[in-house]
Order: sequence, then structure tokens, then C-alpha cells
Amino acid sequence: MNAAPAAEPLARRIFAEQVRLLYAQAPLGTVASLLIAPMLALIHWDIVPRTVLLGWLALLEATLLVRLALVVAFQRRRDPDADAERWARRYSWACAASGVCWGGCVVLLTLAPPLTYQTFTALMLGGVLMGGALTMTPVLVTYVAYALPLMLPPVLWLLLRDDPLRAAMGAAGILYLLLALGAAHHYHRTLVRSLRLALENAGLAQSFAAAKEQAEAGNRQLAEQQAALRSSVDAMRELYEVISIPRRHPGDRIQAMLAMGCQRFGLTIGILSHVEDDRYEIVQVITPGGEIRRGDVFALGDTYCRDTLRAREPLGFEHASASDWRQHPCYPKLKLEAYLGTPVQVGEHIYGTLNFSNFQPRSTPFAAVDRELIQLMARWVGSALEQEQMAAAAQRQQTLLAHASRLNTLGEMASGLAHEINQPITAISLYAETGLTRLRNGPDEPAELRETLEKIAAQSARTHAIIQQVRHFARQSKPQYLTVRVSALLDDIADFLDMETRRYHVVLRQDIGPDLPPVLADPLQVQQVILNLVRNAVDATGAIDGPRVVLLSARPEPDGVELAVQDNGPGLDPNLLRQLPHPFFTTKPDGLGLGLSISQSIVEAHGGRLWATPNRDAGATFHFTLPAAARIHRPERVKFAL
Ligand code: ADP
Repeated sequence: MNAAPAAEPLARRIFAEQVRLLYAQAPLGTVASLLIAPMLALIHWDIVPRTVLLGWLALLEATLLVRLALVVAFQRRRDPDADAERWARRYSWACAASGVCWGGCVVLLTLAPPLTYQTFTALMLGGVLMGGALTMTPVLVTYVAYALPLMLPPVLWLLLRDDPLRAAMGAAGILYLLLALGAAHHYHRTLVRSLRLALENAGLAQSFAAAKEQAEAGNRQLAEQQAALRSSVDAMRELYEVISIPRRHPGDRIQAMLAMGCQRFGLTIGILSHVEDDRYEIVQVITPGGEIRRGDVFALGDTYCRDTLRAREPLGFEHASASDWRQHPCYPKLKLEAYLGTPVQVGEHIYGTLNFSNFQPRSTPFAAVDRELIQLMARWVGSALEQEQMAAAAQRQQTLLAHASRLNTLGEMASGLAHEINQPITAISLYAETGLTRLRNGPDEPAELRETLEKIAAQSARTHAIIQQVRHFARQSKPQYLTVRVSALLDDIADFLDMETRRYHVVLRQDIGPDLPPVLADPLQVQQVILNLVRNAVDATGAIDGPRVVLLSARPEPDGVELAVQDNGPGLDPNLLRQLPHPFFTTKPDGLGLGLSISQSIVEAHGGRLWATPNRDAGATFHFTLPAAARIHRPERVKFAL
């Protein structure tokens, strides 16, 4: 069913090809006829009246000229495939006219009775008939229209003669005619069949070429998709590498990410901005010439990021001056030609933008993978900033808690402190009393008086020192990591340690190794840990009857220094050991249960660890480590790809 519409155009194309062949072969037969006709006339020149002869010749030659004119017109036609039917009809009529004129040879046969003339004429007609069979068969009807009027009149004329020779010639003529028509029909069918085959092959070749082209286009598309996929896998790998390299500060990773984005997108400027109302502040930046610096502030309306934030999705263009972006207020100010940016969200809020740009236009358009990549980068930056904010909040909390704990420690040490301060004050008043008595009793030796005053000054200095230590310990300050020696840390709190152990009749021993490496630590916080552990040890020894001993030791370990506070108290209950250091876990009636957990968070913030072990004989030991200052991983210098 579906073949019908396709078959019809094919038949039409075959016929058009037949007509083209008909006209292509036409000049050969026509020119041959043009030459044969005068030859025939010349032979009959003396025997047939000239007017008849010339009239016949003129008519025949006229039809031949018409046929030649048709050939020329056919070759000049505008649309080669249109009107094949009409061109075939025209030529068929012209050939029929030629055939009629050739058939007019009957006149020659009549007017030239000698057998030789008639035989010659019959021979010529046979030749013309065969010539037509060779040149007109592409369109069979044309040949039939030519051959029948050409042969039938002379053949019939010959058959109707009484002469057996002429009748035989007529019969032979009929036979030739039938043979010529049969051969023409056979040739015509063969031609049409080969034309059909050729056109079908051409159609097949065409559809094969179309299929090949389609397959090639598919392959190209596949290759493009593969390239895009490979590119996005590469991008993911790069992103992963940037975010997985351990760096001390998230800012370093953001810098590394900006460098990666610049390289990936082929742009030279990478910016993380913070936006508040119309204020656009540069938080992190990479520029080749340092045109834009960290902390620079712009009006948001003057940046392409205004539009990025409005769009709430990645926005990019490659050539601002060749597009409407040249109308943007940013273009005349900064002349940035290429731009790719996306909003950065921290939690629920828009923080700012991550954007890349260049003073030069970008030669290729941004791909979908570029937009996806920048979105992923922005998401990572958002979560890194969020983590940073949370870590800062946690650190603030910890600092507050540590401070509260220090105040608590001081509160607990208050009576001891009062006693400690009281002693020099009592001594001062005693010395002052002595001095006054001496003055009242008369002139005294200035040397003795000076000695008394010096004792007063020494006791005042001692009081001042204790008060200073208390003030120092009670102050609230941000953590400050310094390179310090453990012995110096202990010296600063020696008075407190001494006071606490003396008060409870505990012997404090110290075993501080001589070759300890310096550690990177916040002195106040580490002192707080030591004080917590010593106070716990002192508390623990309160339960025993014999001599109470606390040993404070420090020894080097592969990564830094290990400090330990050992006591000879009752030790740790194994069940309780599992709960340590759990916030608010305490076995003391007035305890808060925070000392150990705060100590642990302080130690961990320093990159160390805190743990407890039972002693072999009696009591427990609390250990903690501090990393050596030299081992601390300093923030890496970011290697820029610029
Ligand atoms: P608090 O001192 O307020 O109880 P801590 O967190 O400092 O809070 O201590 C928690 C608990 O751990 C103590 O109540 C005690 O039961 C136990 N503990 C701490 N140090 C020792 C020690 N040296 N020996 C025995 N038990 C200890």
C-alpha cells in the first residue's frame, strides 16, 4: 500500500529519463534522414517530375528541421524533469509527420516504375525504419507513430502490384516492419528495466548515503556526549582533589577552588563575594594583576552578580561587548568581557556569589557541565562557610565554658587563695607594727628600719604576684596558640599547684624531662587542664589515710609531649572509667562534672588526646598529649595555576 505513492514518482522519473534519452539520440537519426532524403531525391531527379520531387523533399526536410528545433528547445528547457509527457508528445507528432512524409515515397514508387528505382527506394525506407528503431525506442509510441506511416503505404502499394517480385518485396516489408517493431519493443523494455534498476539503485545509494550521514551524525553526537561526560568526570575529580586535600583553614581550600575554577573555565579572575543589601565585598579573590583585592567593596548594582543573585542560578556570557551585556553598568566600569557566576547559600540565607571572569572574551560558549560544576563548587563553598561559622560558634562556646570553668576553679580555690594572700598581709602588718614600735621607742638604727621595710616590700610583692596570677587566670580571652615550653607553662601556675597541694597536705612531685620539644599551645587553656587534673588528683587522695602523693610528669613522645598526673588515691572504678569524660558526671557532692570534659575538648582542640589509666599499685593516672610546635601542619601556600 505504502509502495504506491513511492512507485508513482519512480515511474515518472523513469519516463523522464526515457524522454531525455529520446532527445539525446534524436540528432543522430534526424541528421541521417536529412542526408538520405536528398540522396533519394537526387536518384529520382531525372525520372520523377521535379515539382513533385521537391515538394516531397521540402515537406520531409521541414519535419526533420522541426524535430531538430524540438531537440534544441528540449535542451534549453528550464525544468528538466517537468513536462516529460508533453515533450514526448511533441516529438512523437514530429516523428509521425516525418513518417508520413517517408510513407509519401509511394509517389516515388509510382512515378519511377523501373524495378531498380523501386528496390533502391525500398532499401532506403528499410534503412530509415531501422535507424528509427535504433534512436526512437526509448519512447515506444514515438517509434510506432514514426514506423507505421513510414512503412505501411509503400508496403501496401507493393503488395497490391500484380508483379510477384514486388508483392514479395511488400511482404518482406511487412516482415521488416514487424521485426523492427518487435526489436524496438524488446529494446524499449530492456531500457525501461535498466532505467528502473539504475534509479532504484540510485535511490538505494541515496538512502544508504542518508543512513550513513545519519549514523555519522549520531556518532558525532555520541562523541560529543562522551567528551562532555569525560569533561564532567574530570571536573568532578578536580573538585574532589581540591576539597579532599587536608588544609588547616577552609579559606585555603576556597583559594584552591578559585584557582581550579579559573583554570577550568579559562578565566583569569576568581572571586568569592559576600553580599549584604547593596554592599558587595570581596572575601577571597584570585587576579593575575591584583586589580581586585580581598576586602574591596563595590556597589552590588555595579556588578554582574546583581543579575546572578536575581536569577538565583548560574549566569554566564562569553563576550559582553558583542551582546546586550555591554549596556550593564559593570561593563563600562570594569570592562569584563566573560563572566560565569552563581549564588552561594549558607544555610537558608544567600551569602554572596562565586564568580569567575576575564577581561578577554571567551572563544567557546560555556557548556552545561560548566554551569553544573560552578553550582557544585558554590554548594561546597556554602557548606564550608557554614561549617566554619559553626566551628567558630563552637569555639566561642568552648571559650566561654572554659572561662566559666576557670572561674569555678578559682571559686573552689578561694579559701586557699584567701589564706595565701592573708599570710603576706599578716606578715606585712606584723612588720609594720614592729617598725612603728621601734620608731615610737626612740631613734632606731636606719639599717634595721630598712630591713623591716624591705620585708614589708617583699611580702607586698608576693601578695601582688598572687593577685596578678588570679587576675590572669580569671581573664577571658580568645585562644592564642603560641610556641611554648612545658616548663614555662608549669612555672606560671607553680604557686597555685603548690597552694592546692599544701592546703590538703599532699606532696606534689614533679618529673619534667629536660629535653622536651616546644609545643604549640594556648598557655592559659593548658594550665587550666593541668590544674583540673591536679585538683582531681588531690581530691582523690583525700580518701586515703597514708601519705598523699601526686606526681606531675612530662616526657617527650614521638609527636610532641605527654603530660601525666598520677595520684595514689583509690583509683578509678572500671564502671566509672567507661563514662569518663562524660559531661556532668561527678562523684563529688559539690562537683559539676565538667572539669574532665572541658579538659578533653581543650586538649583535642590542640590536636592532642586525653585518657586515664589505672596505676599498677594504687590510684589513677590522667595523661594528655600536646603536639610539638614543629610538627604542626602550617597552612599551605596555595599553588595558583595563573
Ligand atoms: P568534678 O571534679 O566536678 O567531679 P570532673 O569532670 O573533673 O568533675 O571529674 C569527674 C569525675 O571523675 C569525678 O567526680 C571523679 O569521680 C572522677 N575522677 C576524676 N579524677 C579522678 C582521679 N584522679 N581519681 C579518681 N577519680 C577521678
